[in-house]
Amino acid sequence: MKKYVYMFAEGNAGMKNLLGGKGSNLAEMTRLGLPVPQGFTITTEACNEYYDAGGVLTAEMEEQIFKSMAEMEILTGKVFGDLKNPLLVSVRSGARASMPGMMDTVLNLGLNDEVVEVLAKETGNPRFAYDSYRRFITMFGDVVMEIDKEHFDAAMDEIKERSGALSDNDLDSDDMKEITKTFLKIYEEIQGEPFPQDPKEQLISSITAVFRSWNNFRAVYYRRMHNIPGSWGTAVNVQEMVYGNLGETSGTGVAFSRNPATGENKLYGEYLMNAQGEDVVAGIRTPVPISHLHEQMPEIYNEFQNIADRLEHHYGDMQDLEFTIEKGKLFILQTRSGKRTAMAALQVAVDMVAEGIAGKEEALSRIDPNSLDALLHPAFKPEALAKADVIATGLPASPGAAAGEIAFTAEEAFAAHEAGKKVLLVRTETSPEDIQGMNVSEGILTSRGGMTSHAAVVARGMGTPCITGSTASQIDEKTKTLTIKGKAYTSGDWISIDGTTGNVYAGQIETQPAEISDNFATIMQWSDDIRQLGIRTNADTPTDAEKARELGAEGIGLCRTEHMFFGEDRIFAFRQMIVARNEVDRRKALAKILPVQQDDFENIYRSMDGLPVTIRLLDPPLHEFLPTNEKEIIELAAELAMTHEALKGIITELHETNPMLGHRGCRLAISYPEIAEMQTEAILRAAIVVKREGVKVFPEIMVPLVSEVKELTFLKKVILDTAERIFKDAGERVEFEVGTMIEIPRACITADAIAKEADFFSFGTNDLTQMGYGLSRDDAGQILTAYYKEGIFEFDPTSHIDRDGVGVLMEMATGKARKTKPQMHLGICGEHGGDPVSIEFCHLLGFDYVSCSPFRVPIARLSAAQAEIAYPNKDKKILVGS
Ligand code: PEP
Ligand code: MG
Repeated sequence: MKKYVYMFAEGNAGMKNLLGGKGSNLAEMTRLGLPVPQGFTITTEACNEYYDAGGVLTAEMEEQIFKSMAEMEILTGKVFGDLKNPLLVSVRSGARASMPGMMDTVLNLGLNDEVVEVLAKETGNPRFAYDSYRRFITMFGDVVMEIDKEHFDAAMDEIKERSGALSDNDLDSDDMKEITKTFLKIYEEIQGEPFPQDPKEQLISSITAVFRSWNNFRAVYYRRMHNIPGSWGTAVNVQEMVYGNLGETSGTGVAFSRNPATGENKLYGEYLMNAQGEDVVAGIRTPVPISHLHEQMPEIYNEFQNIADRLEHHYGDMQDLEFTIEKGKLFILQTRSGKRTAMAALQVAVDMVAEGIAGKEEALSRIDPNSLDALLHPAFKPEALAKADVIATGLPASPGAAAGEIAFTAEEAFAAHEAGKKVLLVRTETSPEDIQGMNVSEGILTSRGGMTSHAAVVARGMGTPCITGSTASQIDEKTKTLTIKGKAYTSGDWISIDGTTGNVYAGQIETQPAEISDNFATIMQWSDDIRQLGIRTNADTPTDAEKARELGAEGIGLCRTEHMFFGEDRIFAFRQMIVARNEVDRRKALAKILPVQQDDFENIYRSMDGLPVTIRLLDPPLHEFLPTNEKEIIELAAELAMTHEALKGIITELHETNPMLGHRGCRLAISYPEIAEMQTEAILRAAIVVKREGVKVFPEIMVPLVSEVKELTFLKKVILDTAERIFKDAGERVEFEVGTMIEIPRACITADAIAKEADFFSFGTNDLTQMGYGLSRDDAGQILTAYYKEGIFEFDPTSHIDRDGVGVLMEMATGKARKTKPQMHLGICGEHGGDPVSIEFCHLLGFDYVSCSPFRVPIARLSAAQAEIAYPNKDKKILVGS
């Protein structure tokens, strides 16, 4: 019989795929002999089979679950549903990848009308017993039966108001009894049947609900954001309850082994005495810093510190722990590697290597390359900041500066973002339902909650600046007003926040680029020492090229020459060239373009002194450069000194049904070789000029959109003939190469033939993906919405190189190219060149380099090192289709 359920003692940290992150770590801690409440884990495979079976637990699963319950009863000496010594459990999700708050949890399971009385007697604390029962009814109603929580919250508020209680803590045992009664009534009214009294029924329904929550909206959305496949499924953990709300010697909290915002090596977290875990996370009461525990319960604090240290050493990484103190005894409920800001990630990595907890490779592997982006995020300009007034403060939950127009709900934020606005989400507290709105916001401000509240944790994960617990910010979500010191701000008003200091400002403060720390330099140096891939950049202007070099680029992998003409002052000559109807007019326009291009190339070569520069011949999908509305057409006609009708006629003539498959790429230069001649001239003349200044220059001329080797043969001749003319004219030569983009499926299939004519290949995975899938780069959005809905795609298939399809084409082309020319250099210049998962694939294919936008260069450096660490035998392993 297949094993669907593992007792904690049967698992270990290596079983993450089967037991989920939480389950495997609980098992590992159990093995280490740490104080973990007993329990068992139902596997991710069971989750998948639950779905295969149409959303039910199979008889085999149920049998194993009850068998494990019986084992738990022996281990704990308590009995499920017993009226003497009842066992109460929690039922919690736990996927392979951490998905904080995205799925559902049920606590205090096993309570019913009779057991609650036993619990009241046993603990001598009826208030606690009924508080636990009413929480259970709410969670069971909400999670399992999908009863809107509002119903329970409203009833609770009513009773609080009636008894004059300010917070839940002011309610006494009679109040709690009354609340429980009311909740049971609400449940029965809405559900049409009484609250289930059989603990076994409660258990099976709750496990089912947690499996079901794997596919709730927020979990699916979170997975799409983080590219987590739905096929992983979630595990479910059933664990004995321990209580932090049993009085003043009980408490609960969450703590990181180091500071997750800065990386400082000091316990960092919060706790609340006489509270349940959800109170801390949900921001209902404001928790106390963990350092206070040192004074309040020094022994417990020391024990906790020792456990945190031990786990750090054991896992070689900073830990994020959940704990409960039940009547003076410490329990660890969870450990996982702690989410941290980019700044903290670097600090922790550098410190852990220095402390001998982790080796360089291990430390590097733990840094999320995408998080480096946050380090390169803007801060406020000091001059602008000096003029700004702090109107409120809060906890610095996630660093970085942000300014935006206020939105009070996730929906409002999303709509404003769609309308092209910069949004700042302002909420009393956030909940997982807000995920979509949080994702599109520049920053997040909440009036409640601590450093580990939902808003804080999620914002840090996203690299979005965030301030929590800003109590001076009074937020009324109903009337959509934020009141600070008597002044009201409403939707659309600008505010600015600094997530590093916790300061809130009125208005829009200008920002400036981030400064790079010593730790950053250290991590980059370690990455460079390890990686095998070269890192180039896609840069079209001298400014971009300089920025990229500063960030570590080792050359330019793609200079899109048409992008040099986006500027107002240049577009004219370019448009003139496009609309020219004969060679004479075209050459006239090209003659205007030549000096502008040559000048840009000179500056690019200077900033890339000593490094290769790949310049691509014109590849303008023409429609991107022509005016579309009547007003612009009239203006352009006047500029070009032609009649409106004549220009309209040309535009109509140039109109293509499929411009992306139309007159672009090398096709343009084949129709009009003078374009390739002019560009070759600009490229080589610029090279000669800077060479004379002493700059070391290595131009690589790249032909785009080749699908047939003869296209390249033709243009190569144009390029080489032009080169000879220029060299003769200048009385000097420069070394250069001629290569091609590989971005059409047919080019991959015929790569052996194309390689004969090319000095290098650069994979254009934007077009290759577009044409591989037959999915338009410009119009995919709408299609994807339907595909997500139907579950055909879980996330944007273009976000990583598709190893099963497009990747196979790339592997084929690589193999064929290397067969023709073993030493031929290969790279990638599509957007995937800056995506960690795709960079790993390029490493596996044995590419020479990846090329990405300037700000992604550090991400690429680290990703390339991580790829080498994970797959050091790059020449032996090609993982297509995995
Ligand atoms: C590509 O197609 O991947 C590429 C780099 O070219 P472009 O995006 O300019 O079409
Ligand atoms: Mg392309």
